[in-house]
Amino acid sequence: MSRVGVIGGGPAGLLVASLTRDHEVVVFEEHPRVGLPRHCTSLVGRYTASFLSELLTSRVVGRGYKRFIFHTSLGDYTIEFGDEIAFYLRRPLLEEKLAEKAQSLGHVVLTGARAKPGGLTTVRVGEGTYAFDKIVVADGARSEFYTFFHGGRRGLLYGVQAFVGHDSGDDAIHVDLSPRKAFFSWFLPLDGDVGIAGYITGRHLADPRIMLRSLSKRMRVPFKKVFRFFGGVVVEPGFISRPHIGGRVFFIGDALGLIKPFTYGGLYYIVRLAPKLVEAIGGKPETYVKEVEKLASFNRAESILASTKTQRLLSPVFLKLVNSSGLFNYMDYDEHYKLAVKSIISPLLLYPSLVKSIAEGLGK
Ligand SMILES: Cc1cc2nc3c(=O)[nH]c(=O)nc-3n(C[C@H](O)[C@H](O)[C@H](O)COP(=O)(O)OP(=O)(O)OC[C@H]3O[C@@H](n4cnc5c(N)ncnc54)[C@H](O)[C@@H]3O)c2cc1C
Repeated sequence: MSRVGVIGGGPAGLLVASLTRDHEVVVFEEHPRVGLPRHCTSLVGRYTASFLSELLTSRVVGRGYKRFIFHTSLGDYTIEFGDEIAFYLRRPLLEEKLAEKAQSLGHVVLTGARAKPGGLTTVRVGEGTYAFDKIVVADGARSEFYTFFHGGRRGLLYGVQAFVGHDSGDDAIHVDLSPRKAFFSWFLPLDGDVGIAGYITGRHLADPRIMLRSLSKRMRVPFKKVFRFFGGVVVEPGFISRPHIGGRVFFIGDALGLIKPFTYGGLYYIVRLAPKLVEAIGGKPETYVKEVEKLASFNRAESILASTKTQRLLSPVFLKLVNSSGLFNYMDYDEHYKLAVKSIISPLLLYPSLVKSIAEGLGK
């Protein structure tokens, strides 16, 4: 049995603790409560929602969405999927349930405990020093432990959002792919007449109220009231850390840096990687490295797809095509590389005669 120190009581650190059975775990969380302050929109695909619902309780999963409206400078694209493909996770209930689960396994979750790196086997908290056999670094996008072990800092982007009142009666998620001063922005209706509106930007100085007004106009969703702003930073896609150091220190979540390049979501990777990290703690670091490398290589390919504005703008066109051709599968929400392949195949299915005549034309 090993003693494992987990730095950070966010989804990544708490999920690792909740899945670890044969070792003693201590989670250090600097805030007085887990899950707060909140920074994430909490939209995930079916894989992540089902995984967490089965592990914890179905209550952590809120409403699902099957209709998306993409606003682009080429026009608006409404896409309705046959089934719900994205789900809202209730926060901070998610972190609270994960912490309860970890504690029910005998692990300790120390809140109000800011950890400082000591070395490969030690963590400093206040005046004290804790010794561990393994350390799991899950201290988020600004990871101090990443800087300590790897040196340097990663590029960060700013996610700004607000709970807003609306009376659109809308059940669709709106995504604006061509906002000014932001990479993309979104509106997500929650239960009742409240929703979350937000944007990802590299320029955190843009006035959030002006940004919200402009995105409300572009998405044609009037916001009656802005209740509360919240948000945080995301790691710029592409800055992936080494998954472990000497089989002793492991990185996961935003500290690892795997982020979806189209949506900036990180929760899917956490759910995929936490079970492998638990195996790695048990002495098989290579299984973790393999999984990180697999996800990272697809992630890099997706980053290339997402890297130019034109490709981003065209993505709803391809998405619509894939959905109409019947090739869409719920895993495509998280695995965009599959969408890229399917978007090449879709026209063959949808317009066989057109493809045939092009092929004949090329053959002449
Ligand atoms: C605006 C915004 C919207 C997002 N929307 C989505 C979304 O819709 N879907 C999705 O999948 N992802 C989304 N993300 C990304 C997602 O929030 C992250 O990928 C996820 O929170 C990463 O979890 P984590 O546990 O690695 O880090 P965090 O959630 O950042 O948790 C890290 C924890 O460590 C604690 N901590 C940090 N340093 C220390 C220390 N030294 N000692 C002790 N504790 C420490 C922090 O207090 C925090 O609780 C969004 C992010 C932002 C900013």
